[in-house]
Amino acid sequence: MNRSTNYGKFFRHPLTSLIQNSLLYPVQLYTIDKRLHFKLDREEQKMAHEDCIFCKIIDGDIPSAKVYEDDKVYAFLDISQVTKGHTLVIPKEHTKNIYETPPETAKELFSRIPVIANAIRDAYQPLGINLLNNNEPVAEQSVFHLHVHLIPRYGDGDGYTPNWITHTEDYTSDDLQAVAKAINEQIKH
Ligand code: AMP
Ligand code: ZN
Repeated sequence: MNRSTNYGKFFRHPLTSLIQNSLLYPVQLYTIDKRLHFKLDREEQKMAHEDCIFCKIIDGDIPSAKVYEDDKVYAFLDISQVTKGHTLVIPKEHTKNIYETPPETAKELFSRIPVIANAIRDAYQPLGINLLNNNEPVAEQSVFHLHVHLIPRYGDGDGYTPNWITHTEDYTSDDLQAVAKAINEQIKH
């Protein structure tokens, strides 16, 4: 071991500490700030989860009329019963809406829907069924845990009236191609 190394072990020049601290300080601040934000995000998520009425239904803390359950998916009657058999299908993993849903969760959720739709058909013989998934308040989402409505249809005036205004005349085929391209360019896997 040479002398200078030995010396450095016991004595740090004040300038060395000053330089080290001024360099490290922003890094330390950044790390603390990041940890704090991460902690807040986790706590916010936990709170959101604790406040979620559908999570409470899955946990059995709020009663529901259960239609189906497995380890990934829960289905129960919508309290509003727009038509008889109106069912909500939800993932057990809390996810706010379609924007935040991991592909695996979507796969699990949608794989159960044909099974449940067929069970509703066998039970009540509707003439058809509408699937509806609302995302964000502008689209009428009122419960912020992803859910798909299964609304059996029994004919006009059965309780469900989709409001659908067509704008076919407003778009040329070039317009359609341009819209499709704009969306396609944003596809992220
Ligand atoms: P959305 O408006 O698409 O978010 O749908 C939320 C649905 O949840 C509504 O149709 C409500 O009737 C239904 N809902 C809310 N609370 C309950 C509950 N405790 N049990 C069953 N359905 C519920
Ligand atoms: Zn939830």
